[in-house]
Amino acid sequence: MKLETPIKSLFMVGHYYAQRLSKLGINTIEDLLYHFPFRYTDYSLISPINKLQEGEIVTIEGKVLSIKNQYLRGGRKIQRAQIDDGSGRIQITWFNQPFLIRTIRVGEGYRFSGKVNKFARKLVMTSPEYEKSLEQKDNIHTGRLIPVYHETAKLSSKWLRSRISWMMEKFPDQLKEFLPKKILEENNLLEFKKALKKIHFPENIKDFKEARKRFAFEELFLLHLQTLKRKESWKKEKLAFKFLVDDKKTKEFIKGLPFELTNAQKRTIKEILGDLKRNIPMNRLLEGDVGSGKTVVAALAIYIAFLNKTQSVIMAPTGILAKQHYQTLNDLLKSFKIKIKLITGDPKTKQKDKEKIDIFVGTHALLYKKAQFEKLGLIVIDEQHRFGVEQRAKLIQKNVRKGYSPHILTMTATPIPRTIALTLYGDLSLSVIDELPPGRKKVKTFVVPPQKRKDAYKWIKKRVKDTKEQCFIVCPLIEISESLQTVKAASAEYEKLKKDIFPDLRLGLLHGRMKNKEKDGMIKKFKDGKLDILISTPVVEVGIDIPQATIMVIEGSERFGLSQLHQLRGRVGRSDKESYCLLFTEILKGRSFLRIKSLEKMNIGVELAEFDLKLRGPGEIYGTSQHGFFDLKVASFSDLSLIKLSKKVAEDIFPQINKYSLLKARLKKDTIRDIKPN
Ligand code: ADP
Ligand code: MG
Repeated sequence: MKLETPIKSLFMVGHYYAQRLSKLGINTIEDLLYHFPFRYTDYSLISPINKLQEGEIVTIEGKVLSIKNQYLRGGRKIQRAQIDDGSGRIQITWFNQPFLIRTIRVGEGYRFSGKVNKFARKLVMTSPEYEKSLEQKDNIHTGRLIPVYHETAKLSSKWLRSRISWMMEKFPDQLKEFLPKKILEENNLLEFKKALKKIHFPENIKDFKEARKRFAFEELFLLHLQTLKRKESWKKEKLAFKFLVDDKKTKEFIKGLPFELTNAQKRTIKEILGDLKRNIPMNRLLEGDVGSGKTVVAALAIYIAFLNKTQSVIMAPTGILAKQHYQTLNDLLKSFKIKIKLITGDPKTKQKDKEKIDIFVGTHALLYKKAQFEKLGLIVIDEQHRFGVEQRAKLIQKNVRKGYSPHILTMTATPIPRTIALTLYGDLSLSVIDELPPGRKKVKTFVVPPQKRKDAYKWIKKRVKDTKEQCFIVCPLIEISESLQTVKAASAEYEKLKKDIFPDLRLGLLHGRMKNKEKDGMIKKFKDGKLDILISTPVVEVGIDIPQATIMVIEGSERFGLSQLHQLRGRVGRSDKESYCLLFTEILKGRSFLRIKSLEKMNIGVELAEFDLKLRGPGEIYGTSQHGFFDLKVASFSDLSLIKLSKKVAEDIFPQINKYSLLKARLKKDTIRDIKPN
């Protein structure tokens, strides 16, 4: 047995449970041990039965006098047990767990933890946790702080608790410390095995805090080491094709643009050209708000690659966006006789026309195709947050002759706060476009409570009719992916709006499950002004450029992350016309409300992201909430001091990493998982 052993091979788990576990992302023993509780229930108050009080959450321990099933109407069963602890008796009831009469044995001692209720003037306990009284061993379900885990259907906290506890007991030798002793000592961190024990089964809050500190440190420390590792291996890459940067042609290109570049764009271009001239491949992240004009910067880099007789690939997260890039690049580069090819679906590019093509535009799916490019000089990846670092590495491996790399430019509109960029993308150079092209108006943003919804619809109707400007309505994010449920919700909303709210306007529906052709058709219709309102699932989030759309309505806005809302809002305000963003919400207080309310005032992406981070605060345990970047399991991006500390420790140890074989083994797999759609 090893930590990497697949969970399904354990007889304590078995095939069916393995499947359920896999839904929680748990596939190995290690995964299960790292499935930390998200909270604890305090059952540490132990009371004699005769001192119980209504409403208390307690543990009692006593002998089972009787247990039996009682049948209710409708086939339901209720289980009743009598418990005696010498001080008194109490009745315990469960519902629909008939098997209990076989698992709980009459005459034996048990502990029960739960809430004391009053029923027909008598105290009872309903559906408590229970386990046999143990003399030798520790209890894990009762009489203490009890871990509560994220569950899935048919996988209870109780089940998880008992497996985790069993594993820790059964295989103590496998739980080897992999952090160097020196690091543990200097930073006052718990040893691995102890920390595991304390995070799952703490005796008190102090235990939990200590364990959490260790795992938070470990998580960040490993991330930093991985970044250092990637950085080092990138340094070994040789440039596939050395570029010359022709200043004259660069100037001409810039002069030929239909607009003047912003200072931020100029600065970024300078940074990129600096990289392209060098002997080592560029690996740069270009961060800039929606509409800040990243595409033209990329186009110039592509043009330079073309002048150096190499090919470029530009990848977008969605087909719609790929198509848009294709058109934009055609416009920007049309005077230079550059051959651009849009790859949709299956890239069946034949060998012979591949050579003639200068630019390939397609979705990230391009990544996985075997297609070898003849002379790949530059890869542009748009919207980095949609996929992980690992995939990027794969692409490079696949398309690059051993040890020879193209330049890589990664672009993102996700406002990544500095601390996060530091932790996750420390191996990339960073350029930021922190300025919007002149003349852009701030999008007027309003949070709309339910009682103002009617007025909002009225206003939209009038505005659309009077100005002929267009409106997006984005339906709530129901699941992270474009699930059937999300599509259904959008379709229902579309029907409702068409029938009841805007019967005299032209409405269209767009969602991710439509065929590409239908999608394109719908977008074209909207672009051509043949629709007034486009209702869509959150797929439109990335990059559609429709300047005459000036109203963005977001339903269930509290369900989105701030940076996501900011990006959605960026779909409007792309012309000199006044634009509006209406954030519909049902929630009118608390942090969720504060979050969306902040959009009324703030309009710079990074600023919003920092604010979002601050709202969360370091106290947030095991944040699974969507913030649009990447979920840390234990640590928090707002814990700046721990980020800094772990970074420093990682940098100190990295040159001697070979001395620490267990730690090194840990780095084999890159823990940066795919970054969730934001
Ligand atoms: P993003 O950074 O979101 O990818 P785009 O590159 O799509 O932004 O640019 C948004 C729009 O702004 C495009 O229509 C583009 O032509 C325009 N644009 C880019 N740079 C400038 C500029 N310096 N001045 C005016 N318009 C610009
Ligand atoms: Mg873009």
